[in-house]
Amino acid sequence: MWQRLKYDQPSITKGRTDVVTVTPWLAPVIWESTFEPVLLDAIFKPKNLTIAASVFAVGKYVQFLKDFLETSEKFFFIGFNVHIFVFTDRPQDVPKVQLAAGRKISVRKVPSSKRWQEISARRMEMVHALLRDLRGSTHYVFCLDVDSKFHGRWGSESLSETVAVVHPGYYGDGRSRFPYERRPQSRAYMAPSDGDFYYCGGAFGGSLDQVLELTQVCSKNYRDDEKDGVEAAWQEESHLNRYFWENKPSKVLSPEYLWQDFKPRNPEIHIIRFSGVNKNYAAIRPNA
Ligand code: UDP
Ligand code: MN
Repeated sequence: MWQRLKYDQPSITKGRTDVVTVTPWLAPVIWESTFEPVLLDAIFKPKNLTIAASVFAVGKYVQFLKDFLETSEKFFFIGFNVHIFVFTDRPQDVPKVQLAAGRKISVRKVPSSKRWQEISARRMEMVHALLRDLRGSTHYVFCLDVDSKFHGRWGSESLSETVAVVHPGYYGDGRSRFPYERRPQSRAYMAPSDGDFYYCGGAFGGSLDQVLELTQVCSKNYRDDEKDGVEAAWQEESHLNRYFWENKPSKVLSPEYLWQDFKPRNPEIHIIRFSGVNKNYAAIRPNA
């Protein structure tokens, strides 16, 4: 296979110097031009993997589905078996999208809610229930925000046991300034002297078994906090950050993998792969 594959000779001394490409626990950090897409696809495609993605579109958020699904057809794991699970209270409003061979969309009905915090926070337990059903048929899973579009390749370079995305909003800040949950009563608590990166709640993933474990722990901690009358500052994002502090991700995706349309592109961002659209919170959320 390698004889037929054409790709640039890798260098052992030259590479990107403007960004960090490996964490202190030796997980790769994925940035543009640190990987060879052709080579990675040649490694992963013969494994005949199935990649699942979960996306929630509750209430008015169904309006984001069309762009999310259409752009995923252009950029998300092209050439792989992809199964997107749409969780919505409005199944009749899920747009019909033309899908390439090997790709599927399934719709799961979920209750609507009067609080966006609850919608956002209940995702983990619903994903956990889904993944229990997918055991044996799915290899990797990504959990993604719907209010976003793909603009560039998101593919096999992102596969690993546990995958976290560095949040685009805080990666220049000191850890004491990260918006972690700071109240010790919460199970998402992070001390000012703790933390590696601030990770996104809007995109994470990993192997089926690892995401099963992660969603179990985070949703249980959220529920147990709730019994104590505590809701973490950023709901499941706070619990996810605590989880990844204790369980270091085996691969870290740079903010190329979840940018925000309102942010000017920083010089180290050579490509934006997935980005949150600008939205009018007052118009789309069920509560303030
Ligand atoms: N969400 C939803 N309906 C809502 C609020 C949130 O479906 O009324 C889902 C949706 O998938 C959304 C995610 O929860 O992308 C996270 O919420 P949001 O994107 O509003 O949070 P932000 O990215 O602005 O922090
Ligand atoms: Mn979002």
